[in-house]
Amino acid sequence: MAARTLRIGLIPGDGIGREVIPAGRRILESLPSSLGLKFDFVDLDAGYEHFKAFGTALPEKTVETLQKECDGALFGAVSSPTNKVAGYTSPIVALRKRLSLYANVRPCKTVLSPAFRSPSTSPIDLVIVRENTEDLYVKEEKTYPDPNGDGQIAEAIKRISTQASRRIATIAGEIAARRQKMRQKPNGEAAQKEAMVTITHKSNVLSQTDGLFRSTAREALAAPAFSSLKIEEQIVDSMVYKLFLQPQYYDVIVAPNLYGDLLSDGAAALVGSLGLVPSANVGEDIVMGEPCHGSAPDIEGKGIANPVATIRSVGCMLEFLNQPEAADVIYNAVDEGLREGKFISPDLGGKASTEEVMDDIVRRL
Ligand code: ATP
Ligand code: MG
Repeated sequence: MAARTLRIGLIPGDGIGREVIPAGRRILESLPSSLGLKFDFVDLDAGYEHFKAFGTALPEKTVETLQKECDGALFGAVSSPTNKVAGYTSPIVALRKRLSLYANVRPCKTVLSPAFRSPSTSPIDLVIVRENTEDLYVKEEKTYPDPNGDGQIAEAIKRISTQASRRIATIAGEIAARRQKMRQKPNGEAAQKEAMVTITHKSNVLSQTDGLFRSTAREALAAPAFSSLKIEEQIVDSMVYKLFLQPQYYDVIVAPNLYGDLLSDGAAALVGSLGLVPSANVGEDIVMGEPCHGSAPDIEGKGIANPVATIRSVGCMLEFLNQPEAADVIYNAVDEGLREGKFISPDLGGKASTEEVMDDIVRRL
């Protein structure tokens, strides 16, 4: 079988993005040839440093190359200035829009190891699937004088559509089904955890908007393809409570944009370091892997950034480029390295450099 070549755009951005994206590239280059995959790379600019030097945070060439040439992309991080700078808007938000990256998928997983601290005593392994195009984040706001004469009134539109809700529920179902398959042990015995999608909403209060999200997600997940999954729903406030009390319970959580945003940051905290948490921004035409951390100016240039979030993001990207075997090779190598605990970066209490963590994972591929 001829090897399939995937073209990957590399957008390091700012700060430690420039230290971890090369690690992502090296992982792809080090994958076993038996997977039948080849990669070619194109380096692309974006970020605050680029804005300061050239006056634009997201060059048109970057967007066009991603749209026209790339199957996937890896995005590092961009730093956002604390005070608003005229003409600067975050390139990642713009990219999500321009590339129609409709789903933000964030797997949160802990590996227990005596070598480092972890906030939980039993392993967490869940995925948050956040709708990425609508809800309150359509940013349609207005402010007008309060007719009572006391100050102003501000309003924002919360928009939920059948189409976007169906699309996000469907991808959540696909992820849960794929995880179920991957958890099957080689001897045919199923792993302990139940394959499940939890639909999160607040339809007891917002019966029309969240009501539409809920009923559409229910309907999409009732498809025969998902018959082996348990489908449940949970009101978002009780979801927060239970997620913090018992994160081990969850498998795949699907939510509209705002709740998904909040839940995914909360879930990342449960894992113990931003340096461990990956994400994928999934669109119809391209998938962009992105570590959940920012540019981390406090550790920039020290060579100690944890590359695991980026390496796992490479796995996420491949998963949604229909390469689940390659993704699994990466996830397993990372988990093995963490479990063995010889090369642990300082954010987890270890001493290993970015390079040493990388070398250890590459050896395991
Ligand atoms: P930005 O504005 O770009 O988000 P930030 O100052 O908010 O920058 P983050 O990148 O969000 O910084 O990181 C928050 C904290 O987590 C920092 O102390 C940072 O050093 C730490 N951190 C984030 N990512 C990593 C990583 N990959 N490895 C080690 N520590 C990390
Ligand atoms: Mg930050």
